[in-house]
Amino acid sequence: MQRPELLAPAGNMEKLRTAVHYGADAVYLGGRAFGLRNLADNFSIHEMAAALEFCHEREVRAYLTVNSYPHNDALERLERYLSEVAELPFDAYIVADPGVMELAREISPRRELHLSTQANTINWRSARFWRSQGISRVNLARETTLEAMAETVAKSGLDVEVFVHGALCVSYSGRCLLSSAMAGRDANQGECAHPCRWNYHLVEEKRPGEFFPVHEDESGTFIFNSRDLCLLEHLPAIVSSGVASLKIEGRMKGINYVASVLRVYRQALDEYAADPLGYRCRPEWLEELSKLSHRGYTTGFLFGAPRDVGQEYTSAYLRSHEFVGLVEALREDGSVVVGVRNRINVGDELEFVGPGMRSHRLRLDGLLLLDPEGGTQDGDVANPNQRVIMHPPFSVGPFDLIRREKTSMP
Ligand code: SF4
Repeated sequence: MQRPELLAPAGNMEKLRTAVHYGADAVYLGGRAFGLRNLADNFSIHEMAAALEFCHEREVRAYLTVNSYPHNDALERLERYLSEVAELPFDAYIVADPGVMELAREISPRRELHLSTQANTINWRSARFWRSQGISRVNLARETTLEAMAETVAKSGLDVEVFVHGALCVSYSGRCLLSSAMAGRDANQGECAHPCRWNYHLVEEKRPGEFFPVHEDESGTFIFNSRDLCLLEHLPAIVSSGVASLKIEGRMKGINYVASVLRVYRQALDEYAADPLGYRCRPEWLEELSKLSHRGYTTGFLFGAPRDVGQEYTSAYLRSHEFVGLVEALREDGSVVVGVRNRINVGDELEFVGPGMRSHRLRLDGLLLLDPEGGTQDGDVANPNQRVIMHPPFSVGPFDLIRREKTSMP
């Protein structure tokens, strides 16, 4: 059995380090333009160089997203951008637009090109066509069944990549005009305002200004709001289909998401590879994914059209835990420096989590606040952006996450 690559989002340097720490085999990241996630922090040219060095020292591959659909007036800028990044040792570019492909090939003829999900490949003939155009890997559109994945692998002769986890569009793999029309922000240029997740009312044409609520439930009406994709339970079937890469969506998501999703899929994939016959999807993996902010999970199109199981009828994100801090450094006396991301109080029940599903609980009896000069003082509360010192009576490592159960759902 060939173990597929686990491919993780890296919206900025901290997320990239987190992804690598929690077991990504490869990461994808964008520059400040042309990468379809203009609202993520993204990377400057200088930061990309540092990111590539960090990844390659750890034998992790890094792909650059250049998967927007540029208009004519952006082409000169795109050419300058591709010339700048040509010097950087990216393992591949992720592209969608044929014009971008051609330009990338002219500027960097030896660079591998992966086809983005934005190109909407859903059949093996299409994949084979892209191979003839110099594409070495195709990310299938999310509207692809398990059967079609296997057939495309068998007949296209291309490496095939599929999404296994993350948000779904209600449009055809992101080719959507809703955000352009409603918010003036073009989803195909990386500026989606996510209007498909807004709450909608009904207006009768002769009564403008009168908004009739259409109650699906007490939260309102969410007519487009898709659930999030989660294919963890079907990992064996997906791996058996022969795909080369399992991709996790979410360059806009936080490090808590990146770490938690990766540690689950990393362990699941490794356990399956080690013992395919004895493999079982562990309940604690599903429980871990349910602790993250999500809109209910669906298997999407894996087994055909999702119909009603793909729709979420509430705006509320489901989330049982909140991320409160990150272990930044270990000190010689066994204590740790924690970067606070959400208010922490003395008395909180905290959970420290690390790679390999490592998890420990700690009731916080006291807080030592660390000032920028290195001095400390006792406190009852620590606020975001402060640093504190903690003394966990168990082993933890840098990049371990600290979270706390929310008192009420969602
Ligand atoms: S509005 Fe929704 S469906 Fe359209 S591109 Fe944005 S996320 Fe996707």
